[in-house]
Amino acid sequence: MNNVEQRLEIKAAADGLPPGGTSNDIPCPWCKQAKSFSVTKTRLGDVLYLCHRASCTEGGRGGYIRERGLSSTSQVKREFTPRVYTGTTRYLEGPWLSQLVDAYRLAEVEIRWAGWLHGYPPDAIVMPVYSAYGTRRGVLTKFFDKSVVPKTLTYKEVDDAWMGWYIRSGASPQNQEGKYSTVVVVEDPISALKASRFYPAVSIYGTYLSPQMIEELTNLGDRIVLCFDRDATQKALDYAKNYAMMGNFRTVPLSKDVKDMTQQELQEWSELL
Ligand SMILES: [Zn+2]
Repeated sequence: MNNVEQRLEIKAAADGLPPGGTSNDIPCPWCKQAKSFSVTKTRLGDVLYLCHRASCTEGGRGGYIRERGLSSTSQVKREFTPRVYTGTTRYLEGPWLSQLVDAYRLAEVEIRWAGWLHGYPPDAIVMPVYSAYGTRRGVLTKFFDKSVVPKTLTYKEVDDAWMGWYIRSGASPQNQEGKYSTVVVVEDPISALKASRFYPAVSIYGTYLSPQMIEELTNLGDRIVLCFDRDATQKALDYAKNYAMMGNFRTVPLSKDVKDMTQQELQEWSELL
């Protein structure tokens, strides 16, 4: 369906909004119902919209309009050049493995499950990035030598949201819509691997959540819990507020970054999720 007219109408309504502002002034451009339609402008200038009327098919699905132009997820056209890791990889073992196990209190079996390998040169942990369906999105490398700058490198193989899912089989059933009851969002893959002991977990490789990422999260999770590192708690709160109309977001402030937590601390944290 061509929704250009509707999207132009939404964009016009959003033009008058301050960043972070929401309006319910225009009727739904699809079902024409008054007062059922929200338009939000995020702090980044993107526009989110949703019709709250249960019977509204097109508006009820919600969506977003990027700051530039009228692209939607299905219509995004931009340049993409795949970047592929070309180092040598081998089984992660010996001191390299011990270092990882000790530094982050990981179990060897979960490192194997995550598919992490030893890559070189230079020596790095090579961590594949998978979608929620297990398709490969690329690789992240993290150097063992802390003096190597940058500490991590990104190899995006496909033009897809850059998020890595860690879902342990059988740990969390999906409902009829295919959603998990709770999805935990963290900054880095080590935290995600640890968090996946309790719930499906996603690493977003930083603290930026694009509308495309928000869409993927809300398609797959009933409750989205943002657990950013301590220094980014405010950012998590802002996202939860900005994207409230897109889904059920909450934040759990951390006393310690997830990757550094002991099993006891993780257990206590998981009870807050
Ligand atoms: Zn509607």
